[in-house]
Amino acid sequence: AKKAGDTSVVVVGGGPGGYVAAIRAAQLGGKVTLIEKNKLGGTCLNVGCIPTKVLLHAAEALTEAKHMDNLGIQVSVNGIDWKAVQSRKEAVTNQLVNGVTGLMKANKIRVIEGTASFASKTALEVVKKDGTKENVPFDKVILATGSVPAVPPIPGVKENAACVDSTGALAFDHVPETLLVIGGGVIGMELATAYSRFGAKVTVVEAMPKLLPMMDGELTAMLRKKMEASGVTILTEAKVQSVEAAPAGAKVQVEVGGKVESFEAEKVLVAVGRRTDTEALGLDKVGIAHDRGRITVNDKMETNVPNIYAIGDCLGKVMLAHVASAQGEVAAENALGETAVYDGKTNPSCVYTDPEFAGVGLTEEKAKEEGIAYQVGKFPLMANGKALIMNGGEGMIKFIIGKEYGEVLGVHILGPRATDLIGECALAIGMEATVDEIYATIHAHPTVTEAVREAALAATKRAIHIP
Ligand code: FAD
Repeated sequence: AKKAGDTSVVVVGGGPGGYVAAIRAAQLGGKVTLIEKNKLGGTCLNVGCIPTKVLLHAAEALTEAKHMDNLGIQVSVNGIDWKAVQSRKEAVTNQLVNGVTGLMKANKIRVIEGTASFASKTALEVVKKDGTKENVPFDKVILATGSVPAVPPIPGVKENAACVDSTGALAFDHVPETLLVIGGGVIGMELATAYSRFGAKVTVVEAMPKLLPMMDGELTAMLRKKMEASGVTILTEAKVQSVEAAPAGAKVQVEVGGKVESFEAEKVLVAVGRRTDTEALGLDKVGIAHDRGRITVNDKMETNVPNIYAIGDCLGKVMLAHVASAQGEVAAENALGETAVYDGKTNPSCVYTDPEFAGVGLTEEKAKEEGIAYQVGKFPLMANGKALIMNGGEGMIKFIIGKEYGEVLGVHILGPRATDLIGECALAIGMEATVDEIYATIHAHPTVTEAVREAALAATKRAIHIP
């Protein structure tokens, strides 16, 4: 029988899906090669999760500095050194990319810099950065080629230099005076938050009736109010019709409430979604099933072609770094003879707005839609000491539990460090914990985690700090 060490595993794409899959395959004894056409770390480290959070963190610090008098501290803010903000972003990104390079070496993974496409069902052809070609045979291949920003068919978007995608918006050479964001999804809302805090006048235009469609509606409405109060203009059920050149940058025609309104903006961020980056692979050449470039897989991350797996954004489903990584581990384990399945039920969704917003499991809307018998527990953060200290008690935690057994079905948090708090809730869902088990778990004081416990208890009328 073949030993793991004889199995060659080739991973295409070095993002959080691909590099994690490569490391897991190496841990299991595979002979691993990773092919990356651009930079290790993929979208996430280079133009996604990490650079956005560097900007958001600086923007948050700026806002806090401006409001230090709330804490009794006198500070005068002299403005922003935008070059320094940008260099810090580069420095953090580079440090993490170098970290991944180090992990590749430590795990004895060969990294080839180049673009891969299928030569046959058992080999890839790589066009390397230096122009040479290499045929790379494999026993198993894991496709993790990710995604790129989608360009909507709005007249003028392609031609107008004021229009940028998220990558462009992360690298502005100055903070624009006015920014119009097309798309009220996660990327649009995060960059709207960052630039509004840096001082831009921001308008968000969303075609759907609601921002952040996958998040809890009640908390989304609270977030919208807060953002509007902080000066962001938000239009929903509003459709951008065209973008034209204008002295300020661009003139954007928006149809809203049956009328067409015109907005001028120095920059227009187009954040309407992402499309899979699978064209170069030549999926049809080897008969890999896909839906317009979105690779089809089962819960073992297997495609329809034996020995070929696919993970992460290139599936065109849930486009999140931690999902790509989780699927990468599953694919690597299956490629090396173990049996693993991907189950998204513990997958948290996080939005780094102010306050932060995070959710896991069922939303109330979904529970209703599926006809599930549920109970809701809500705890306002105004009643939590730590939240009151940190942000004045803005936000709310909401639990959805099963009516009969009290099992945790979903948790939704709007509040300070919501994106960290959601980890405990994901574990609860994964372990099928009941509200009684959360009751029995002592949470430290004073922390916002106490409010997580109280929200769970509120679902069974046992919360202490609310009437
Ligand atoms: P990618 O990270 O896209 O990596 C794919 C890699 O494959 C790329 O490096 C690409 O160059 C390479 N490649 C493609 N084709 C080939 C080929 N033929 N040959 C060789 N190499 C190839 N997610 C979160 O979870 N949290 C966040 O806070 C978050 N913030 C985001 C903010 C922004 C602005 C954006 C754009 C995305 C954000 N995301 C976030 C999403 C996250 O970045 C992606 O879900 C994640 O990077 C997907 O990982 P992946 O490995 O599937 O693909």
